[in-house]
Amino acid sequence: MKITFCGAARQVTGSMHLLELESGYRVLIDCGLDYNQQKEFHRGAKVQFPFDPSSIDVVILTHAHVDHSGNIPTLVRQGFGGKIVCTPPTAELTRFLLLDSLKIMEMEMKRKEGNRRKGKKPNKLSSIYGYKDFEEAMDRLITLHFNKDFDLNSSLSVRFQEAGHILGAASVKITVDEKGKKTVFGFTGDLGNYGSKLMKDPTPFEGINYLISESTYGGRVHQAKRSPEEELLYYIERTCVRQPGRLVIPAFSVGRTQAIIYALHELYVQGRLPEIRYFVDSPLAIRTTDVYAKYGEYMNEESQRFLKQNGSLFEFEYMDYITDKRDSERLQDHYEPCVIISAAGMVEGGRIQEHVRNNIGNGYCTILIAGFCAEGTLGHRLLNGQGNIYMNGHDYPVFAQVHKTDAFSAHPDHYGLKRYIEESGGKSLKGIFLVHAEESSMMSLESDLALNGYENVHLPEKLEEFMII
Ligand SMILES: [Zn+2]
Repeated sequence: MKITFCGAARQVTGSMHLLELESGYRVLIDCGLDYNQQKEFHRGAKVQFPFDPSSIDVVILTHAHVDHSGNIPTLVRQGFGGKIVCTPPTAELTRFLLLDSLKIMEMEMKRKEGNRRKGKKPNKLSSIYGYKDFEEAMDRLITLHFNKDFDLNSSLSVRFQEAGHILGAASVKITVDEKGKKTVFGFTGDLGNYGSKLMKDPTPFEGINYLISESTYGGRVHQAKRSPEEELLYYIERTCVRQPGRLVIPAFSVGRTQAIIYALHELYVQGRLPEIRYFVDSPLAIRTTDVYAKYGEYMNEESQRFLKQNGSLFEFEYMDYITDKRDSERLQDHYEPCVIISAAGMVEGGRIQEHVRNNIGNGYCTILIAGFCAEGTLGHRLLNGQGNIYMNGHDYPVFAQVHKTDAFSAHPDHYGLKRYIEESGGKSLKGIFLVHAEESSMMSLESDLALNGYENVHLPEKLEEFMII
């Protein structure tokens, strides 16, 4: 048996791991888009899988985020003929996210084609996949609820359990029984933060031999001094009440936006939410919010109780959902204090780019980064405190305040990861593979684990193979 780490190895995006059985059966765990390569795809580059897509028997999808699901339609286009197993909410969210990803890709390519024509090179760019591939991929999805065993064949079964990251996010336990020898793998997918808004805590694995764990926040400790709702109130009061400013919050459409709306709703119910306008400006976030509202039972007890008492998690006075592009553009002329929540979270693409561009020179504006920003993204550059920001071909001086909050983090921090790893078997496991983090983060976690007597931790390089005997 063999595991190959095809993506998210010593980096955060592009999750993709290949498990090959002695029988030749091949399981791909996640098939995500690598954000470092995304710009190349917008220029017409093709996705090169390090295996023949037609040789893959099944894909296990841990959750809907594009860095875990974004290359599935391309895999289908290039010959994958099997099924894709995920939870029911993941199936619904993946449809929205992949469609959105395809639209962004087409828009970017049109923009690049236009630029090429000006430069007298009128080559037609073709995208990495089209609507037909997308629809075919969606037809291949089969759903599996948490805590149910599902036999993929006579020697391999899978079981999803709560990862706590976003709605429907699963960690997957894979049991292989070949020639009378049983081996059990635990792939965490992306884990959620302990005690987070909306989602339940991640469930550690029981009875596994090998753990493949995300380590996004290895070496970092969440610095939230206040609860999520107190944190929001603090920034709203500073930016929109004590002065006539605006608070712009870049937030991922899936997960972060809903947690923020829910926290605002709590403040509203408590009678503490300042009477200003709150805009959610992201069609994708709005569609996603409907899916969250539909799957109330996937959320933690506190959210379920709130839902019962108030009839809704995400609908309340002062909250405006904006879908129309023109209404989004009109927000620029909204001179009253307001809060704008928009995607994408790393400020790469989506309507948030317009809001950042329109407000970056406004000394009365605060941009509150509420999630992880990978190196090289605009969100990351804003956080580095640059005096000028280059975007869309222009330099913009930065007069807006830029702050970061960990209160809404959708990943465990260093201590959360250690706790999870320990509770999943820790030192007694045959092997622990750290993935899904920048190198420095996984090295911090590895060295701390080593100090605690762990001798079984590996940091796989991209495409590194491990034989499991
Ligand atoms: Zn994720």
